[in-house]
Amino acid sequence: MASSVVPFLEFDIQLHQGEFTLDVAAQFEGGITAVFGPSGAGKSTLLGCLAGMITPDSGHIRLDGETIFCSADRVRQPLQSLGIAMVFQDGMLFPHKTVGENIDYGYNLTHPDSRRIDPQELCEFLQIGNLVDRYPVSLSGGERQRVALARSVATSPRLLLLDEPVASLDIRLRNQVVSYLKQIHDRYGIPMIYVSHSISDVMALAPNALVLERGSVKSFCPVIDLVADIASSTRVGRDDIDNLYVGTVTPTGAIRIGDVEVVAQPDGYGPGQQVTVSISASDIMLALEQPRSISARNVLAGVIQRVEVGDYAAFAFVDTGTEFVVELTSEAVESLDLRPGKDVFVLFKTSSITITAG
Ligand code: ADP
Repeated sequence: MASSVVPFLEFDIQLHQGEFTLDVAAQFEGGITAVFGPSGAGKSTLLGCLAGMITPDSGHIRLDGETIFCSADRVRQPLQSLGIAMVFQDGMLFPHKTVGENIDYGYNLTHPDSRRIDPQELCEFLQIGNLVDRYPVSLSGGERQRVALARSVATSPRLLLLDEPVASLDIRLRNQVVSYLKQIHDRYGIPMIYVSHSISDVMALAPNALVLERGSVKSFCPVIDLVADIASSTRVGRDDIDNLYVGTVTPTGAIRIGDVEVVAQPDGYGPGQQVTVSISASDIMLALEQPRSISARNVLAGVIQRVEVGDYAAFAFVDTGTEFVVELTSEAVESLDLRPGKDVFVLFKTSSITITAG
């Protein structure tokens, strides 16, 4: 007998808002799914509908097989009972409550039977335990976002919606929060929908992306396929692609990332410490032979997995034991005859590596 698998989240919704129309349908598995697209595409509006903050004109939303909205059957589950939490770009912490009170607020909202996550352990994990008596105004941007994340996660949500949570942070803090999101997902198994217009964050977090354009679904595809669009965009105004990893400092002061060790300068970080590492795709070079005399300290042997060539750039995905995305020109792809299966060497300088705690 054929068995049908119920998708974790399924929606088909329509909403008219002034000149703008949202008309989207998709099915998401659990795990992390990205919603990607330019400003004004409808990403926040979609999240607002899924979170129960905006009521669509028509359609339905089903979460884990349960109908939480259906216009035809007049079903509209109250916001509080949905078990869906949201984190916004600017954190939206209560300014008159301390960090600890902000996090307890989320925890106390949750029915005791549904509490799966201990706020104290969560604070330790997010390294904000020392901030509990402070007020939001005294926090840095990165700290504020970690607290906002803790407040939402403390509600033990069935689904966590993240609306550009790192957009206002600089690259180091952005990497740190992205890394925490990944670890929270792995540790607590909370399904997430991550809205972003940054390809690097999306590549680091989610296997698949729903791409919106002018209120409609442009595609629902593996995130890796979005790289082809980037290669076809002019450099001005387009996103740089960063390789983003969580690594561990080794006893010799290198950083272990998956199956490879990279030579870096993890000043201030001790052996065994976990760090976030980012290397821009445009700071990495490829060579067909192992260079003998070169100033770049990192030379890793790898095999090309995939090559995307666009009008303005090309990207090669190289497996060295850990995957690197390398940005090159289409002329370089041609002259080196780069194609899947080819052996290459990945080269980058220690100074190209950005390291952040976490
Ligand atoms: P994104 O998150 O992709 O940047 P939004 O969902 O914020 O896009 O906005 C989608 C469109 O809806 C935009 O054209 C925006 O101007 C419009 N919009 C958002 N909120 C409202 C509203 N309350 N009333 C009318 N139009 C709105």
